[in-house]
Amino acid sequence: MSATAASLRNQFPLLAAAPDLHYLDSAATAQIHRLALDAMLHHEATRRANVLRGTYRLAEAADLAYEQARAIAARFLNAGAADEIVFTSGATASLNLVAHAFGNTLKAGDRVLISVAEHHSNFVPWQMLRERTGIELALIPLGADGQLDLAGLPELLDRNCRLVAVTHCSNVTGAMTDVATLVAAARRVGARVLLDGAQAVQHGPQDVRGMDVDFYAFSGHKCFGPGGVGVLWSRGELLAAMPPFLTGGGMIASVTNEVATWAEPPQRFEAGTPPIAQAVGLGAALEWMMGLPWARIHATEGHLCEMLITGLQCIPGLRLLGPQASAQRAPIVSFDIPGLHPHDICQVLDGHRLALRGGHHCAQPLLAALGVEACTRASIALYTDEAEIEALLDGLDYAVKVLT
Ligand code: PMP
Repeated sequence: MSATAASLRNQFPLLAAAPDLHYLDSAATAQIHRLALDAMLHHEATRRANVLRGTYRLAEAADLAYEQARAIAARFLNAGAADEIVFTSGATASLNLVAHAFGNTLKAGDRVLISVAEHHSNFVPWQMLRERTGIELALIPLGADGQLDLAGLPELLDRNCRLVAVTHCSNVTGAMTDVATLVAAARRVGARVLLDGAQAVQHGPQDVRGMDVDFYAFSGHKCFGPGGVGVLWSRGELLAAMPPFLTGGGMIASVTNEVATWAEPPQRFEAGTPPIAQAVGLGAALEWMMGLPWARIHATEGHLCEMLITGLQCIPGLRLLGPQASAQRAPIVSFDIPGLHPHDICQVLDGHRLALRGGHHCAQPLLAALGVEACTRASIALYTDEAEIEALLDGLDYAVKVLT
């Protein structure tokens, strides 16, 4: 194992304690960094109190820690202001929030454009919105190269299109979306752009203002932080124009017997007690990520991805799903071996201490477009090493032998 990967791996308690484990399922959940765990423990042990309610010093310390985490998330995304960060329970909650709050500003006949490559959490909320309001839901298809086919955008993006909501990076194929082309086309008709960043954030800080998008959603557990917390970013003026999604404590300006009025964002969208310690832990993880040498990490991840793809292509009959070249993709690699079920493959691999995911990956429309019902996925993270890719290729050779 290289010195860099070994020193990174040792910063993750679970991996440090299991040197023989090849964890290749970081696209589902990345391992949590020690600093995130320490920050949560410190918070719970010294500052545990509810936020934005108490006037005693302990509660003020909790407020401060929670708001500092918000400011860190804003820096991680290059947001305009900390108030543009809404803490949620995860990417799914963030996407449902937009489908309800922004969705409530849409009317029958308005169009929302998603893609066939979406995770179900950026698919089903829009189908439900269509049922509630009569919006039209259109789909960007998949191109032969495994990328979104943006050639038809001029027809798909008509004047009724209010929102383009697509994944920043596919959780199945690793394909990165061509955000610049999408944003330019959306702007021509005045449509807003949402990116589901669930898979992109693990590979470095993002620049929402540079990309000129309008909404960005992600989960803490996919970027080395805790589960149960996530982020929705949007522009201040857009958040201010949206009604709340969930209602209850903490999100009102006033409530009378007859009527309630709303607090300003972000509190308007944080009804109830938020995941306070989790937000603090996420802040620690994001702060750590912002200090990493990303150019070097991307080069290593790209090299490992290339190595994996080259090795997979030597397995007779194996079909690689999505872009073939590692340059067009994040290091998420899915494949199909006709006649072998991904669950069986994963079970055999588990015997070799290889943790991979097999199934439909909550992206059934994408799998249907790719012509498979299920596939096996290996995802590479910054703690992955060459030896683990070799172990996977050896494990697959063995799996093919015993399963055929
Ligand atoms: N979008 C994408 C692209 C994902 O990969 C995932 C998680 N697999 C989600 C959304 C949903 O994330 P969560 O389950 O953390 O809410």
